Amino acid sequence: MDSNQHGSDAVDLAGVICPSCGRELAPGAEHCAACGTAATARLTIKKDQGSRDARAMHSKWYVLGVLFLATGALGLPILFKSKAFSKPLKVVLTILVIVYTMAMLWLTYAVISWFVGQMKAVSG
Ligand SMILES: [Zn+2]
Repeated sequence: MDSNQHGSDAVDLAGVICPSCGRELAPGAEHCAACGTAATARLTIKKDQGSRDARAMHSKWYVLGVLFLATGALGLPILFKSKAFSKPLKVVLTILVIVYTMAMLWLTYAVISWFVGQMKAVSG
């Protein structure tokens, strides 16, 4: 079978992401099929982590993940700067994040006061 000999070469190229549009490039492709960016540009993406992070900021799921899992309302400036959301959506999300953060603060307070109550019950 000749096809087996080509297999190992293709592995390195598989999973290469277009630096411009983020699409996965076909193994060995010279240009991105979606936007036409030269595939050689992929070499710069690994060196340039900074711009990659900046692009991540404009990814919806990244921003939502940061807001709801890490920073809460403190991360709202990320949402404001992000280009991944329309203005009305930003307003809705801002309210959601604030409500969510308040709920989390309340939950934390409830747990702490329950814990303090338990401590008093034990000592008293
Ligand atoms: Zn592309």
